[in-house]
Amino acid sequence: MNIILLGPPGAGKGTQSSLLVEQRGMRQLSTGDMLRAAVKAETPVGLEAKAVMERGELVSDAIVSALIDDELAAMSAETGAIFDGYPRTAAQAVSLDELLAKHGRKLDHVIELDVDEEALVDRVTGRFTCANCGEGYHDRHKQPEVAGACDKCGSTEFKRRKDDNEETVRTRMAEYRAKTAPILPHYEKSGIVRRVDGMAAIDDVTRAIAKVLDS
Ligand code: ADP
Ligand code: ADP
Ligand code: ZN
Repeated sequence: MNIILLGPPGAGKGTQSSLLVEQRGMRQLSTGDMLRAAVKAETPVGLEAKAVMERGELVSDAIVSALIDDELAAMSAETGAIFDGYPRTAAQAVSLDELLAKHGRKLDHVIELDVDEEALVDRVTGRFTCANCGEGYHDRHKQPEVAGACDKCGSTEFKRRKDDNEETVRTRMAEYRAKTAPILPHYEKSGIVRRVDGMAAIDDVTRAIAKVLDS
């Protein structure tokens, strides 16, 4: 199974992807995570992407599609893919069609997380992750069970993204509205778009996604 999770920054794509990875053995392909790793490692891609990401603008289509191509090439054909944060433009949607065909895959569902924009500022500015395993948390909605220690790995080190501030989030939301939301019709033609209420509690969103995947 291959699915796209679509939604603006803070919609819950990463949170739901990691649950799908745990529950269904699928693989999360997050271009945001790949780009942050490239920035950290100071690769040529990372050096080019760093300032663009800090402004909340989009990195070039060619860069992100090449990252996805490499990941798909390295994956076993049996492992399902969750595209998280890709495609984000019409050109990327066309590239993804080509990459899926090249790697013998077919898209099963596009799940659009429907959310309220004002809630997203709160979600993104309260977001933090475990510095060791990457598990996601939130200041108000999802604190670790034992204060200060990661539920998954016990690490006491956490980090926050540099671009998770209100100003950059507003730019990212505007990019989503202008460039990403318009790709939905590309998939609506094939009848594979399903809307899920992303404002519900995390567990309820997971259940709604499971219903789509098992339908
Ligand atoms: P995205 O990957 O779409 O940018 P995340 O999955 O990182 O979004 O979620 C953004 C923040 O909101 C995280 O801190 C996460 O813990 C929290 N969050 C995710 N889903 C929900 C939800 N349904 N209700 C409340 N908070 C949520
Ligand atoms: P969020 O969790 O807020 O949805 P991501 O982690 O997916 O954000 O992306 C962070 C940043 O990385 C984006 O603001 C953008 O600069 C860059 N980026 C990630 N994925 C893409 C993509 N598919 N196309 C262009 N830029 C991307
Ligand atoms: Zn951890």
